[in-house]
Amino acid sequence: MNLPKIESENFKGKRVFLRVDFNVPVENGKTTDTTRIEKTLPTIELLLQKGARVIIGSHLGRPKGKPDPEFTMRPVFESFSKLTKAKVLFSENVIGPKAVALSKELKDGEILLLENLRYHKEEEENEKGFCKKLAELADVYINDAFGAAHRAHASTEGVAHLLPAFAGLLMRKEIEMLSGLLARPERPFVAIVGGSKVSSKFAILKNLSDKVDHLLIGGGMSYTFLKSRAVPIGNSLFEKEFESQAFQLIDRAGVNGIDLQIPVDHVIADKFDANAKTKNVDKMGILDGWMAMDIGSKTIDNYIKVIKDAKTILWNGPMGVFEMDKFAKGTIEIAKAVSKSKAKTIVGGGDSIAAVNKAGVADKITHISTGGGASLEFLEGKTLPGVACLVKKED
Ligand code: AMP
Repeated sequence: MNLPKIESENFKGKRVFLRVDFNVPVENGKTTDTTRIEKTLPTIELLLQKGARVIIGSHLGRPKGKPDPEFTMRPVFESFSKLTKAKVLFSENVIGPKAVALSKELKDGEILLLENLRYHKEEEENEKGFCKKLAELADVYINDAFGAAHRAHASTEGVAHLLPAFAGLLMRKEIEMLSGLLARPERPFVAIVGGSKVSSKFAILKNLSDKVDHLLIGGGMSYTFLKSRAVPIGNSLFEKEFESQAFQLIDRAGVNGIDLQIPVDHVIADKFDANAKTKNVDKMGILDGWMAMDIGSKTIDNYIKVIKDAKTILWNGPMGVFEMDKFAKGTIEIAKAVSKSKAKTIVGGGDSIAAVNKAGVADKITHISTGGGASLEFLEGKTLPGVACLVKKED
């Protein structure tokens, strides 16, 4: 994919509108994980070296199209200011005369961070007038928000048609890593997919099942697969409307010679609670009145065996309710095994990233994708509007 690069451009004295994904977790007015900010720093540093005046815009949470102090970018501003040596100013206004005036007062090498773009409902509507107002802030547009590239919003898509548009370094890296993964994976290629729902990941499971050598399924989605094979699942997560598709996917994998594995044993609980009573069960399935909360030790061993021989690994979604210590083992053991592997490893999705952080192995992963939904849609083979608008501009 041919995306317009920033490395060979001259930005001296230019006002650059940089769309980033600074949608980081905030608790009690403080950011609790700045991974997404840190991943954007190379683009910002490069722009500053090139003498740009950088106007940064991002969304944070879902303020429903109007100002809401719960979703202010102020905590992000505090953290970001500490992570960069450059002078950073804050604009209470996203658009309008005051924001434009601040953007014009910036000196080369200075940064202006805008308030939450989603304080305006026109942002998510990709409304033309709002796109024009965003464009008034800058001479050039750069998109580095891979995590928001599956949305056609004003700041991720609309504004790209109004200014010379480029892809940031992180955007390009994400796309290169993910497209390289699908186009020419070294084999064995192993995909590990977990998380709560089959419905949200069925498309990717289907797409991957044509491409991988092994598909290891874990998490809440496993129990729809188990039920489709007549294994009792008690009160575990179940999506009836996906039961027959899950059944067919297992069959199709068999026909295509793909090793699709679902959990063979489970850690079950008498309720969805960190202090629930627990038991380990295997092929007899999950007892009536109980629910599966994590993969069991035989499943962990089976999956680790496959991971050890892999040359390429893609992991998205936890193996169990890893937020509760009693049910974190499956996810943590898989995180460790993935990190020890000599394979090229790509981890995506907020929970899997949290899991590799929790296991202390994030630095051993080849590529941690910042985009949850965006990376899934990309891997499903969909065109991302935030990327397509950049490609089109260059043609
Ligand atoms: P997702 O956003 O679809 O990747 O799902 C992540 C969530 O799935 C996490 O919050 C996990 O706690 C949850 N999850 C994983 N395994 C299970 C399970 N066996 N039962 C219920 N929830 C689960």
